[in-house]
Amino acid sequence: MDMSFSAEDLVFREEVRAFLDDKLNIRLREGAFATPSVFVEPDITREWQAILNEKGWLATLWPEEDGGPGFTPTQKYIFEKECALAGAPALPVLGLKLVGPVICKFGTPEQKARFLPRILSGEDYWCQGYSEPGAGSDLASLKTRAERQGDKYIVNGSKIWTTHAHHANWIFALVRTNPDAKKQEGISFLLVPMDQPGVSVTPIVTIANDHEVNATFFDNAETSVENLIGDEGQGWTIAKYLLENERGGSCAAPSLLAEIERVEQYAKRQPSGVNGAMDHDVALMQRLARLRLETEAFEVTELRILSELAKGRPAGPQTSLMKLTASNLRQAINTITIDMFGYDGLQLPTSRPLYGNEAPEPVGGREAQLAMPTWLNGRAWTIFGGSDEVQKTIIAKQVLGL
Ligand SMILES: Cc1cc2nc3c(=O)[nH]c(=O)nc-3n(C[C@H](O)[C@H](O)[C@H](O)COP(=O)(O)OP(=O)(O)OC[C@H]3O[C@@H](n4cnc5c(N)ncnc54)[C@H](O)[C@@H]3O)c2cc1C
Repeated sequence: MDMSFSAEDLVFREEVRAFLDDKLNIRLREGAFATPSVFVEPDITREWQAILNEKGWLATLWPEEDGGPGFTPTQKYIFEKECALAGAPALPVLGLKLVGPVICKFGTPEQKARFLPRILSGEDYWCQGYSEPGAGSDLASLKTRAERQGDKYIVNGSKIWTTHAHHANWIFALVRTNPDAKKQEGISFLLVPMDQPGVSVTPIVTIANDHEVNATFFDNAETSVENLIGDEGQGWTIAKYLLENERGGSCAAPSLLAEIERVEQYAKRQPSGVNGAMDHDVALMQRLARLRLETEAFEVTELRILSELAKGRPAGPQTSLMKLTASNLRQAINTITIDMFGYDGLQLPTSRPLYGNEAPEPVGGREAQLAMPTWLNGRAWTIFGGSDEVQKTIIAKQVLGL
């Protein structure tokens, strides 16, 4: 595989750098930096989304004919890397990177025309209704029921851990449409409007003091049959396609490397009892160097998979490998950050947001203030999108053929 960029790619990289330099204002950079989670609040993401949409660089996972930017895989990688290095906010994943590609692939022309432009414009904000209290890793056991009555589905049941459901006006849900069929075959993929009496949302505040996730209840909620994606009973196939995008559709290495670079900078400034600044602490710097090497190796694997995708091969179960590695690297970076800040890294502010005028006063600097919220929030990396153990089982069975 050729790892060097072509002359055109280098020109594109300059264009991206100039664009980011021009458009990423202080508020956006600050909001992205001071969010201890991958889920940036809509007050920040909406602004950034509008800027990217105007430029036509928003929905990098969508085909060009559906509104994607038409990047080559290398351009996509360059774009993600430059955004990460510049500290751009993460975009709303659930619409742009999860349900959007599903509608592009499985939606009817009418569904595409109805939903895709509203995802791009930010008019619709989506959440994901997969997990239930008794169906997480064993997702196919889900019980939320959708019964067809005339031209509507009536939905009853509940979903849990629904990220940003309190901001969303639509939910894409896996529902059981045929209770008599075999587990996977009775499931359908349904879009349900949130703004109706039959849908209610209850907050779940996590160990990190963040309100990101919720429980969502359906009590005779209604949705039109026009909002079924694919056929009845095709939900499991669609769910798996979406999960592959969730696990490996985005490039993770650029943001991991950008994080490591930030930690290396902190080490130069953070005082150490050993020898001046933390970057003289040999044990810590060895750990950091090992992490950088592992992440650079991961980047090469990610680039290899990207080049396979460019040849038209599907993402497939190898995305589990990417999800597993990226999640564990991210947690290791968060841990070393805490270790570096020592006592100052142990603060856990109760109020949010941690940016803007309302932000609580930090002890020992903003970076130190973010270390613990980020570490705690980051425990979820090895759970959402399928836990580590689930990824390892997929790798064993479907990648290694064990
Ligand atoms: C912050 C956060 C955000 C989330 N956002 C969403 C969202 O927006 N929408 C959504 O639908 N879901 C969301 N989830 C849910 C997430 O997908 C589930 O938490 C995850 O799939 C695990 O399911 P569970 O919590 O029911 O745990 P369980 O399935 O009960 O697992 C508990 C433990 O048992 C292990 N385990 C289970 N089965 C096996 C097995 N067969 N072999 C080995 N080990 C096993 C698991 O690895 C885990 O360690 C979110 C979760 C978190 C933490």
